[in-house]
Amino acid sequence: MRLILLGPPGAGKGTQAQRLVGKHGIVQLSTGDMLRAAASAGTPVGLRAKAIMDRGDLVPDDVMIEIIADRIDQPDTANGFILDGFPRTVDQAKALDRLLDERGLGIDRIIEIVVDHEVLRERIAGRARETGGSRADDTEATVAKRLDVYRRQTAPVAEYYRQRGVLKPVDGMGTVEEVAARIDESLRAGTDA
Ligand code: ADP
Repeated sequence: MRLILLGPPGAGKGTQAQRLVGKHGIVQLSTGDMLRAAASAGTPVGLRAKAIMDRGDLVPDDVMIEIIADRIDQPDTANGFILDGFPRTVDQAKALDRLLDERGLGIDRIIEIVVDHEVLRERIAGRARETGGSRADDTEATVAKRLDVYRRQTAPVAEYYRQRGVLKPVDGMGTVEEVAARIDESLRAGTDA
């Protein structure tokens, strides 16, 4: 099974993705995690990405597309994968279409976790307090920036898939378990997206 999880920062994509990984035996491809790993490993790409992430901006499309193309070609994706954090721009979505076409792969579901932006601001601020701000991009100013970047650059990705009739919006308000149940339901419901 191959899935895409869309949704703003703090919508709970990572949490839901991890659960789906356990349930369906697929791998989670989180571009945020990949970039943070590259940054802590101190690779040239990682260090450049870190400065961009800390500002709340997006890493350039060509870098992200190369990272994802390499990752999709690893053997552990054979059983399927869940994309979390990619695509984040319409150009990334188009590049992903080409990438998958070239490999003869399709996407089974594109799920958008829909959450009110005011609630998100609160959630991310809470996460920053709990983790003692272990993520350099969880400060108030950066959160506002990330939500703004989301509205301008990533919301159009949901629109791109909606227009093609392949988007499944899921209500992201409520507990982790409630949202998980809605996602499971939308995965069970027919394949006509
Ligand atoms: P969030 O909690 O904001 O959803 P992520 O862990 O997915 O966080 O991403 C953190 C940061 O990594 C983003 O703010 C951005 O700078 C960078 N990033 C992650 N994925 C992408 C992508 N597909 N394109 C560009 N930048 C990305």
